[in-house]
Amino acid sequence: MKDLHTRHQAVLPDWLALYYDEPIELTHGEGRHVWDAQGRRYLDFFGGILTTMTAHALPEVTKAVAEQAGRIIHSSTLYLNRTMVELAERVAALSGIPDARVFFTTSGTEANDAALLLATAHRGSNQILAMRNSYHGRSFSAVGITGNRSWSPTSLSPLQTLYVHGGVRTRGPYAALSDAEFTEACVADLRDMLGQTRGVAALIAEPIQGVGGFTSPPDGLYAAFREVLKEHGALWIADEVQTGWGRTGDHFWGWQAHAGSGPPDLLTFAKGIGNGMSIGGVVGRAEVMNCLDANSISTFGGSPVTMAAGLANLTYLLEHDLQGNARRVGGLLIERLRAICAHLPAVREVRGRGLMIGIELVRPGTDEASPDAAAAVLEAARESGLLIGKGGGHSTSVLRIAPPLTLTVAEAEEGAAILERALGEV
Ligand code: PMP
Repeated sequence: MKDLHTRHQAVLPDWLALYYDEPIELTHGEGRHVWDAQGRRYLDFFGGILTTMTAHALPEVTKAVAEQAGRIIHSSTLYLNRTMVELAERVAALSGIPDARVFFTTSGTEANDAALLLATAHRGSNQILAMRNSYHGRSFSAVGITGNRSWSPTSLSPLQTLYVHGGVRTRGPYAALSDAEFTEACVADLRDMLGQTRGVAALIAEPIQGVGGFTSPPDGLYAAFREVLKEHGALWIADEVQTGWGRTGDHFWGWQAHAGSGPPDLLTFAKGIGNGMSIGGVVGRAEVMNCLDANSISTFGGSPVTMAAGLANLTYLLEHDLQGNARRVGGLLIERLRAICAHLPAVREVRGRGLMIGIELVRPGTDEASPDAAAAVLEAARESGLLIGKGGGHSTSVLRIAPPLTLTVAEAEEGAAILERALGEV
């Protein structure tokens, strides 16, 4: 019998790589820990790629899922569905968008697809502005707005996309600018783009770029963008798939770091809300959400079992103030990591917000990205029982840290100590 890694070729195309030289088969989880098939325990600093928002095997979520599965599992959009209505009401109220409507999907990709469908239909235009270095998913339209082109397996697209500056400024001509100068330069770039086009449907942006390496624009950048977009009637879509639900600590949504922007016209969410169950969705102004003229439904979006998980998970998150925990424990963790990395020549920057922290690696003594070092740190951390992620632009040289939001101070310290050793070895 071939091993599971070899058999994986049956389900993954060649262009999709697994993490680690010897990939891990996860068999169970609890709290902030997961176990592999060999019984090894790992502290999870990547939250199952940010999908495990609160904790692994959170009893409240497990119970809600089991109870709902025992009652009924069905496709949801043809009949009244209490769990979906209840979660939609809560998401709408939390979104900050007045008179909001919610449409549930099964993934972040599909949520962005739905947002693009709505924005293009509303504006009668298939022109979209997206950010350089962005990631928005894997469908035909989502890869067409993904500025991080190494994540786009095709250059074909149903959309006309133009990429603007603002998401990342770690290198290139913008690197030396102050926040105010950078914002001014990006606004000028946006104006220039809008001047070259007619009737742009929307700008889509991650408030903090996730796959792109946890890079934050200066606070207020999207407020400045919003003014310009409004002059042209273009919508703003905030992709909150990674930044939503309080992960960034100071804010419940990433867009809230941009005081004065007002809520986005459309906000997409996914990942953490289901704590691992497949939920995505778009929430937006009723006028935009109601612009489609067809019985366009999704069979599985909003299925009662995933909605039950989402409701239980959201309730836990709010009742335990996990946004506050992200701020407190994330603040301590980033401080500790900055202290560890201050004298390491291979670390270019430790950055982040709340429990969304990136460590960018370079070849010592240069400003050259070092994907090899990132891969080596990942392996070394795994050897010591810590799972982290990686990301970045064309070279994957940023370590990504995004643990479940219930992370304790002791666990943060334990993970930081493992990272200190792993970084030291590399
Ligand atoms: N948007 C962002 C910002 C993401 O990070 C991701 C996933 N990494 C997606 C969209 C796509 O979500 P999914 O993988 O659920 O399709």
